[in-house]
Formats: sequence, structure tokens, C-alpha cells
Amino acid sequence: MITENQAKALASLLHEIRPRWSAPAMLKLLEKNAQHPAPFADITVAAVNAARDHKIETPGAIFIDQRFWPDTIKAVLPKPPPCPDHIGKDAHNCASCWADVKAGDRPQTHIGTHYEAPANAGA
Ligand SMILES: [Zn+2]
Repeated sequence: MITENQAKALASLLHEIRPRWSAPAMLKLLEKNAQHPAPFADITVAAVNAARDHKIETPGAIFIDQRFWPDTIKAVLPKPPPCPDHIGKDAHNCASCWADVKAGDRPQTHIGTHYEAPANAGA
């Protein structure tokens, strides 16, 4: 649960940590997730963890990537969407997709989304 006051406080805190994450955009994200099952303290921990991770570009990752959440709350978190190409893997950080990218079989833009290799033009 996130109340309006909590959302405002957390939005400006996150904006202070990550200037590119605008307070209004953060407010919108927190409002969208206002019914989240985690207590506000845990949501704050996850949000700050995500904001500190410079590999994270978009704040939406806060509510998708379970690495940012305290262990005690992980059991009640909504399940992240699965990778459509790899059963049992999470779409946002699918290790099998990354392996495909490294092997040159998948463009990096298709991590966690369905990808069909183009038919071989020379065949
Ligand atoms: Zn995958």
C-alpha cells in the first residue's frame, strides 16, 4: 500500500537520488502501484536500491526486478512476467536471452521478448 503522502515523499526522494527520474513521473509510477502488497518501508528500500543501481534506466524496474526487494517480502511480491521464449525465466533479466545475445543469435533489444531469427537470405 502506498498513500498519497508516502508517494509524494518517495517521489521527491527518488528524484534527489536520480535527477533524471522526475518527481511527477515517479508519482505516476507509485500511484499506479498504490495497491502493491508490500509495506511502504519495503517499497522504499526497493525503490532506493533501484535508484542506486546505475544499470537501471527506467524506474519501472522497481516493481519488476525482485533483486531490489528485502528477502522477507519476496514471497508476497507479484510474479514478474515470464520470458516468452524460455520457460521458467523472468523476462526482464532472462539469462538464456543474454546467452543468445552473446552468441549473436538475438538482438539485445529482444531480451525477454519473442524473437524469431530472420530466414537465411542466402539459402
Ligand atoms: Zn529468454
